[in-house]
Amino acid sequence: MGAPVLHVRGRVLIGPAEIVDEMWVVDGRITFERPPAAAEVQSVQGWVLPGLVDAHCHVGLDAHGPVEHDTAVEQALTDRDAGTLLIRDAGSPLDTRFVQEREDLPQLIRAGRHIARTRRYIPNFAHEIEPHDLVTYVRQEARRGDGWVKLVGDWIDREVGDLGPCWPVSALKLAVDAAHEEGARVTAHCFGEQSLVDFAEAGVDCIEHATGLAPETIDTFARQGIAIVPTLINIGTFPDIAAAGERKYPGYAAHMRDLHERRYETIGAAREAGVPIFVGTDAGGSLPHGLVAQEISELTRTGMSATEAIDAATWRARAWLGRDGLVEGAVADFVVYRDDPREDLRTLADPRHIVLRGVVVR
Ligand SMILES: [Zn+2]
Repeated sequence: MGAPVLHVRGRVLIGPAEIVDEMWVVDGRITFERPPAAAEVQSVQGWVLPGLVDAHCHVGLDAHGPVEHDTAVEQALTDRDAGTLLIRDAGSPLDTRFVQEREDLPQLIRAGRHIARTRRYIPNFAHEIEPHDLVTYVRQEARRGDGWVKLVGDWIDREVGDLGPCWPVSALKLAVDAAHEEGARVTAHCFGEQSLVDFAEAGVDCIEHATGLAPETIDTFARQGIAIVPTLINIGTFPDIAAAGERKYPGYAAHMRDLHERRYETIGAAREAGVPIFVGTDAGGSLPHGLVAQEISELTRTGMSATEAIDAATWRARAWLGRDGLVEGAVADFVVYRDDPREDLRTLADPRHIVLRGVVVR
């Protein structure tokens, strides 16, 4: 009541190739019907996209584990000011429900805390458990989260000196079934090849990184509709991970370098086969927040057009996560740019305006 009406003029991209000239925001919601003229008090102009989606981002986490609330807020504000207005959190040891109560922070879909095998992940991040407890923890995190559960699917196996799957397939099958019973989808961190075979067999919904995709698993993923979130900025750090492990684990280091070298080819082959691909920055942990424009641009190196890469962070990503784009009655979360981002992705790095829940926050 009494909130200003916002008039949005220019080129409103309601789909990858569908444009309208104007829309309005009334009481925080989008409408394409002109409200009474007298009510109009504010206007913005430019090229409009739905609020960007970062489908792999960690709010509440840094390189050492959970962070203070203030730091989590800063992380979310950094993402917001880069145009990310919907975050699928890919695992956080901090209970970030408080983020969802703040009107000035991006919309957040939580996955609860990562679930990893004992001593097979970064310290202080995950519940570290054994396979006989997997179903119990999956159910617990499914109930705590917002429809997603995050597993760590592979990690260095120090006995073998290489990447290795963390879970027996039998345990994974029970875990994925349990998550689905709870109404949650399952995603998993996987760098190597074998874990992808196992998770596909268990019926997983999504894979993070997915650098180990090979022709057979690409076919399986396409057939089963398993989505991937490559996080190419993160994959760009594989040579550093390899260098750090070189002396003790030369086989592992060589494997990581190989996955890195063929990353664009791997994700490009998945794209050609029809595997659904979404934008994720993997901010939090060791990477900074606010890199969504950079990740979108990286995806074009796999053969995606600019429009396709934008789609992976906007209209298609929102549909995948069950959230509205720029449609009548939707919560008014959108970004206004100076130029057509489909023509030049560099415009994404510098939004002119950011509108969150109908409020011009920038
Ligand atoms: Zn991550």
